[in-house]
Amino acid sequence: MRSVSSFAFRRLPRCFPRDLLDDTRVVVLPSVRLFACVPYVGITLGRFYLLAPSVARDEGVHAHELVHVVQWRTLGTVGFLWRYLRLFLRHGYAANPLERTAYRIESLVRADAVPFDAVDLTIADL
Ligand SMILES: [Zn+2]
Repeated sequence: MRSVSSFAFRRLPRCFPRDLLDDTRVVVLPSVRLFACVPYVGITLGRFYLLAPSVARDEGVHAHELVHVVQWRTLGTVGFLWRYLRLFLRHGYAANPLERTAYRIESLVRADAVPFDAVDLTIADL
């Protein structure tokens, strides 16, 4: 388990606050299949997220999971899980507004469209 800041990414510190990168913990799990029928890339649990080894150095994936960390922190555990489930049942995975925000910010990071305030963008979408 390590902090996001220990990966020394170039773009993330220009869109997420330093304390979030220091406090968020990443677990890379080589052989975990949490859901056999879902392609596993990353899963966020509070201020932790699990990543498959194939994406452990992918800055865009880290940005995506950090958005979920901010959503989770802002809504609280019950609030996040309840909203995620409700939106998942209504919209499915990719069109879930919580996922759309995460993919939008992931895209900005991949496009090197930094600096921007990812926390403000995330909260504005809630
Ligand atoms: Zn996601």
